Amino acid sequence: MKITIFGSGYVGLVTGTCLADVGHEVVCVDVDADKITRLNRGEVPIYEPGLESMIRDNREAGRLRFTTDAESAVHFGMLQFIAVGTPPDEDGSADLKYVLKVAETIGKHMSEYKVVVDKSTVPVGTADKVHEVLERTLEARGAEIDFDVCSNPEFLKEGAAIEDFTKGARIIIGTDSEAVRRGMRECYAPYNRNHEKLMFMDMRSAELTKYAANAMLATKISFINEISNLAEHLGADAEHVRHGIGSDPRIGYHFIYPGCGYGGSCFPKDVQALGQTATEIGYEAQLLEAVEAVNLRQKTKLFDKLDQAFDRDLEGKTIALWGLAFKPNTDDMREAPSRELMEALWKRGAKVQAFDPEAAEECRRIYGERDDLILATRRNDTLEGADALVICTEWKAFRTVDFDHLQRTLRTPVVVDGRNLFDPQSVKSAGLLYYAMGRGDSL
Ligand code: NAD
Repeated sequence: MKITIFGSGYVGLVTGTCLADVGHEVVCVDVDADKITRLNRGEVPIYEPGLESMIRDNREAGRLRFTTDAESAVHFGMLQFIAVGTPPDEDGSADLKYVLKVAETIGKHMSEYKVVVDKSTVPVGTADKVHEVLERTLEARGAEIDFDVCSNPEFLKEGAAIEDFTKGARIIIGTDSEAVRRGMRECYAPYNRNHEKLMFMDMRSAELTKYAANAMLATKISFINEISNLAEHLGADAEHVRHGIGSDPRIGYHFIYPGCGYGGSCFPKDVQALGQTATEIGYEAQLLEAVEAVNLRQKTKLFDKLDQAFDRDLEGKTIALWGLAFKPNTDDMREAPSRELMEALWKRGAKVQAFDPEAAEECRRIYGERDDLILATRRNDTLEGADALVICTEWKAFRTVDFDHLQRTLRTPVVVDGRNLFDPQSVKSAGLLYYAMGRGDSL
């Protein structure tokens, strides 16, 4: 099939590359000329395991192209995927300007039947808005061309995006059109060989499914963080509690790790956007509000623990920070707990020496050069002259540590572990003061 993808970010790039990899012909179009130039040079602007070689192979095979030329891209594909950003507006609702702009572009240039597939995460009712924009744009041209709009939300997670796209549990398609059903079946057939993954439903249900999935996962995280905070006050160990409840198959182990709050480009904005949808229809979404409030409070906890460890005297202190990305295996720092921590430390006159296996460049792009931020190229370089160590992201490379070396190197033996990576006894027996999440040893 010939497929056009609008947006070459995490979702667009992975979707385009994976669809090319199973034999479709794909054109990815983006308004960011620099991104397209880099992609055409063979550079991948994001870090996603396995993506670089897959892009290279499919470009070489002539199945994957990158362009800024929207007009030719509209002519190219029968399927026109919209995979552009839907960032939060000031009130927390999803800003649809990029999505609707793409709809307008498609309407302006299309000359034959197209299926417009919305892959961006968008509030319920957006497919209708995309339909309206297309209709209006075609009318303004005096063109009478048939088209369909469908919803096909994406469930991939950064860091395992290719695996998720190719082996995901389900492919949700919201449509009431038989032609769309056939087209989407053909598009996803290579991923649908062993058992039926395609789930067809109406567009509104498909749009809501995406928000419901993210809100559920965010709820699990905020729930365990609430329990973890209770455990701190009650002298219990949230890690034991996690094992205890996870063993119940009705609960399971996924997404119940006590930590320093969720970040990233999806959970915070999607929980907010769903809450805003609720407000707009006059429904008080009490659980969603609580999920967000718990998370905002959780993201301040690393700073609070440090602040208390140093008797509120952080001025002039140097803090080693491991992990800038909002989670492992990505360079994405959007809404990362590390940012909340660094910004609070800087406000109080402390300096940060940070290491992340992939996100240093992104950190430099966000914060620029500053005297109170050193980005180390090796994990242990951050410890030189540091007063304390804080762990924000559970990268595998942080799991094994020589605690004696840590104790000898840090000026004060303070370790704040936002991801509960270590056995408290091992850390403490090296003479370190260890503050983890919900482990009965809170300050
Ligand atoms: P992103 O910011 O990484 O990429 C969006 C891209 O769209 C950018 O490169 C931007 O330049 C481009 N763009 C903007 N306007 C355009 C236009 N008119 N024409 C062509 N390109 C245009 O965003 P992302 O993380 O890929 O997310 C895209 C959507 O998918 C969002 O709605 C997001 O919520 C959703 N989503 C994201 C993830 C994720 O893990 N990142 C997972 C599932 C769903």
